Amino acid sequence: MDLREKIKNIPKTELHCHIDGSLRPSTIIELLRKNNLPLPVSNSSNIEDNFKISGNCGSLKEYLNKFDFPIKVMQKKEDLYRVTFELLEDAKKDGIRYIELRFAPYFHTAEGLKVEEVVEAVLSAMKDAESKLNIYSGLILCAMRHEPVSKSIAVINLARKYTDSGVVAVDLAGNESDFPPELHKAAFDLAYEADINITIHAGETGICKNIMKSINILHASRIGHGIFAYKDKSTLHYLIKNHVPLEMCPKSNLDTKAVGSYKEHPIKTYFEDGLRVTLNTDNRTVSNLNLVDEYMNLVNILGFTEAQILQVMRNGFLSAFCSEDLKNKLLNEFEKSII
Ligand SMILES: [Zn+2]
Repeated sequence: MDLREKIKNIPKTELHCHIDGSLRPSTIIELLRKNNLPLPVSNSSNIEDNFKISGNCGSLKEYLNKFDFPIKVMQKKEDLYRVTFELLEDAKKDGIRYIELRFAPYFHTAEGLKVEEVVEAVLSAMKDAESKLNIYSGLILCAMRHEPVSKSIAVINLARKYTDSGVVAVDLAGNESDFPPELHKAAFDLAYEADINITIHAGETGICKNIMKSINILHASRIGHGIFAYKDKSTLHYLIKNHVPLEMCPKSNLDTKAVGSYKEHPIKTYFEDGLRVTLNTDNRTVSNLNLVDEYMNLVNILGFTEAQILQVMRNGFLSAFCSEDLKNKLLNEFEKSII
C-alpha cells in the first residue's frame, strides 16, 4: 500500500476546519442558482476557481474574498444543513474519525434566521452524519474580533445553550492585527466560568504576544495556528511545558502569506522541539486541499517520517474537545489501527 493510501486509512482527527471555507464549489453554484443570487463574474474558464486560491494568493484580501459567496448561500436552514453534511462526507473520505467544525453563527442571520436556528441546523447535520456516516463531530462557535464585546458575549451565551447537544468550544477569529485579545476579555471570562472549552486564533499573522495573551487573559487551552510563537523563547517554553495544543494549518498560512513558502513553515521545528502540534486544513475549499493532501505535504515538503506523522495524528486525539470516554475510545481505535 502506498503512503497516501495508508495515511487515508488511519483514523484521524481534524480540529480546525471552518465550515464557510469548506463548501464544495459545485454546491456553492447550485445554491446561488437555487436562491436566485448572482453568480461570480468569472475571469477564469472554470467558474469554481472563484472559490479557491489557485497558485499564489495575491493578498490576504483575496483570501478573505473567497468567503463572500459561501456566506451568501448559508442563510437558510436547509442550506446550512446541506453544506455541513457534505463537509462531513468529505471528511469521512479523508479517513477522519472525529472533526471539530467551526463557524461564526451571526454571519448567517442576514436573511432573518434566528441565531438558534442557525446553530440547530448545523448540529442536526452533525447528528445525522454521526448515525449515517459513523463520523463523530463537535461544533466550535466563533466570536469575531472586529465585533464589540457584547456580540462575543452573545456568542458565549449561545454556546452555553448547546453544550449538551454538540457545541464543544468557543473561539475568537478575525483580524488579529487591529483587535487584540484583551478587547474580548469579558466574554471569555464568562466562557471560562461556564466551563466551556476555549481555543483562540493567535500568532497567525505575526503577533506573537497574542498567544500568551490568549492563554492568560482569554483562558485558551488550545491555540489556533500559533505560527509566530518562535519569536519569543518564553512563549515556546510555556507551550512545550504545558502541552498546549497548536492547531496548525500550513497551506492556509502559505495562502495568507504568513509564511513565504511551505518549506519555511515552523511546524517541523515545533514538532521536534516537543510542541503538541496537530494538523488541520483550516479552509478546505479556499486552500484547495484535503487533510490527506496536507499530511502528504508534511512528508514530501517538510520531510516528516512516518513515525512523526503518526505522532501528529495521536496529538489530534489527545487535544480533542470531546468527552474523555469518546477520546479514549478513539485513541484505542487509532493505536490498534497502526500496529
Ligand atoms: Zn481558522
